[in-house]
Amino acid sequence: MKFSGKNVLITGSSRGIGAEIAKVLAGYKLKVWINYRSKPELADALQAEIQAFGGQAATICFDASNDQAFSDAISAIVDSDGELAYLVNNAGITNDKLALRMKTEDFTSVIDANLTSCFIGCREALKVMSKQRKGSIVNIASIIGERGNAGQTNYAASKGGMIAMTKSFAYEGAARNVRFNSITPGFIQTEMTEHLKPEIKDYYLQNIPLGRLGEAKEIAEAVAFLLSDSASYITGETLKVNGGLYM
Ligand code: NAP
Repeated sequence: MKFSGKNVLITGSSRGIGAEIAKVLAGYKLKVWINYRSKPELADALQAEIQAFGGQAATICFDASNDQAFSDAISAIVDSDGELAYLVNNAGITNDKLALRMKTEDFTSVIDANLTSCFIGCREALKVMSKQRKGSIVNIASIIGERGNAGQTNYAASKGGMIAMTKSFAYEGAARNVRFNSITPGFIQTEMTEHLKPEIKDYYLQNIPLGRLGEAKEIAEAVAFLLSDSASYITGETLKVNGGLYM
């Protein structure tokens, strides 16, 4: 895969899917900016791991749902590297409860962490990328944003919103050669899915045509494709990476 840009910011990338995206993109010779909110030790360890295999990595601490902090981070990256070529909006949380027991703040906190952070990132990156006349953004949504799920009205709304918002940004960015796409992972082995009840995991395993949970690396390779020049005519797309669970 070919990349005409040289750097990428990945939100929430000190662990889980984000960390794997950082490793894979560093392997494609991009300088990766590892964003973390807590646990600097994880971000530092990932930076060292990437540098040990000859990759370029830097860490950057901010809360992706904070307008000013996200905007300042992008400015700092452009000051350092002279550009922001790629952005992956990956930061996300869950707070599962049946809707009847879900307080409004349980709903809005997930919307802020997942959807508002993604909006801020897309808007701020578009400002920079419009001037560059090139750029590519991938938003990590979810299968739950496509099909919904009991106990996840907040998460489903945030991820469904990301899918629709990505298409709207794709319309706005196209004239300036800035592409926006989203990926909808199915069930991927990370801390987020580690705590699922065994019966829920079994239910999904029985219903995934490929017969297994996905690996973070399988999301990361799809991200690399959509960011890269190999996907230069793809914008506004929602790429399912779910083992066939939802077609
Ligand atoms: P994870 O292991 O729980 O990691 C989530 C990451 O997001 C953490 O590094 C966390 O940082 C960071 N984060 C959360 N809120 C943040 C904020 N406001 N600012 C900056 N960073 C923040 O989750 P994951 O499984 O890797 O998921 C990554 C993305 O994929 C999420 O958007 C998730 O919704 C999506 N996804 C996951 C699956 C799955 O099966 N795992 C399926 C579909 C979609 P802290 O450590 O500081 O909290």
